[in-house]
Amino acid sequence: MSDKFLLHELSWKDIKNLEQGTTVFILPVGSTEQHGPQNPLGTDFLIAEKIARNVAESTINVYCLPTLPIGVASHHRDFPGTLWTSPQILLQLVKDVLHSMLHHGFKKIIVCNGHGGNTSAIMQAISECNDKDEMICLLFEWWKDEELIKSVFGVPSAVHADTVETSVIWAAEESLVQTDKFDQLTSSEEWGRKIGDLYFPSRTKQFTESGIAGPIDGISREKGLKVLEKAVIKLSNVAIELTKYV
Ligand SMILES: [Zn+2]
Repeated sequence: MSDKFLLHELSWKDIKNLEQGTTVFILPVGSTEQHGPQNPLGTDFLIAEKIARNVAESTINVYCLPTLPIGVASHHRDFPGTLWTSPQILLQLVKDVLHSMLHHGFKKIIVCNGHGGNTSAIMQAISECNDKDEMICLLFEWWKDEELIKSVFGVPSAVHADTVETSVIWAAEESLVQTDKFDQLTSSEEWGRKIGDLYFPSRTKQFTESGIAGPIDGISREKGLKVLEKAVIKLSNVAIELTKYV
């Protein structure tokens, strides 16, 4: 068996030789959507892919599936380059990928999602596969670790293309972030209009001209690296537990 860890680089014989009960696959899912003038459109899937691949590379019995790079993002449609699919299609696609792996004898899959708009479709796919097919699928989202993000950035979460997310994509894909734009960035305070905790439906362009929402000062590649490293450790620990899970 080779030391390769990406499914698309392995042969069917390599996959056939894997121990089905203890092997875990990670499926990176993201979005191709505007992330302000400074970040690449692929920010969400690039971060998810980076974390997933680093975990697979460094963790025994863990492999990485090909990334799904298009998500539920029609609210960004006013910004050129944004691509989207419907929640129903994403739900079905994730389910089809999970079922493909089940067909090959693998029940343990972690979906590593990089885009908030995908969460409910993925959760539904995972619940159906766990309930009806007795798979053991989990969802991992790096920005949900409030304690970690607060300890590094002083705020509880990433909003959109803001200080946290820009720092993390800068750490993940250094050459793709346009740092010369950093001193002209503008942003909206919040993610659109809300009353209490409830957000009103809106298109991103209605509340942010630049596409950035949330704080946009103190962007730091070093802090981004810290969050990435911790996310890799956390996901790796989950994956190790899952390899042993019976
Ligand atoms: Zn994002």
